[in-house]
Amino acid sequence: MSQPDEGALDFFRAMHEQFSQVLTAQRGNDTMLSALLTLLFTSYEGSVELQSEGLPEPDCTKGCATCCSIRVVATAPEVFLVARYLQATEVQLRDRGLDIRQRLADADEMTRNCSEEERVALRQRCPYIHKGACVIYPVRPLACRSHISYSQKACVDAAAGRVDEVPFSDVHMSVRSLVQNAMQSALRSSNFPWATYELNHALSIALAHEDAEGAWLASEDVLAAAQVADVSSENMAVTYDRILSHSE
Ligand code: SF4
Repeated sequence: MSQPDEGALDFFRAMHEQFSQVLTAQRGNDTMLSALLTLLFTSYEGSVELQSEGLPEPDCTKGCATCCSIRVVATAPEVFLVARYLQATEVQLRDRGLDIRQRLADADEMTRNCSEEERVALRQRCPYIHKGACVIYPVRPLACRSHISYSQKACVDAAAGRVDEVPFSDVHMSVRSLVQNAMQSALRSSNFPWATYELNHALSIALAHEDAEGAWLASEDVLAAAQVADVSSENMAVTYDRILSHSE
């Protein structure tokens, strides 16, 4: 997390509390992950809408996948949501000419263990783009939802290697960081694995495992091999504890 102001820290604490309540109330229910993710996505959207008042309109348009060569990082509940969606739509996708498991395996082989910079330098399109659109759009992780640009031209130029900088929305990125970290902090407090994972690798594990979601619900870090290495869990835990200890 970057250095948030006191209002942002209050928001983090309030969100941590809300995620914790869901985890406590829903523990053991099939609906726990859906409830958690509904809270994650709705609180993100609501807060972005409030904080975007008076700012320019983003230049992102429906169906644009120009920036979709980034390394996508997601929490375990987000990974399981995408895994469920791919399992449910796999046959329809094959009928549309997309073998998503093969596509994912090829992408994972190419991108596994890449840093964020290496992933961008590869200029490798995301494996979920088919005929110009994201096939997991309804369940895409928060990382994708928060990658919002004020200049589509700059995105096109960056994708072609003509410029290095794109004016992305700070509001979307900072709200994503707060909401996602609040959920991770609540997962940690409730003894669930709470790291972030590289999406292609994590999905490969989740789809190959006979019950990855069940193992995770039993507190096994089943996606551990896909954990993003450039984020220190120890430092994050210290930061979460420090922020929460100042709430009393
Ligand atoms: S998952 Fe979808 S929105 Fe996210 S980078 Fe891939 S194609 Fe783009």
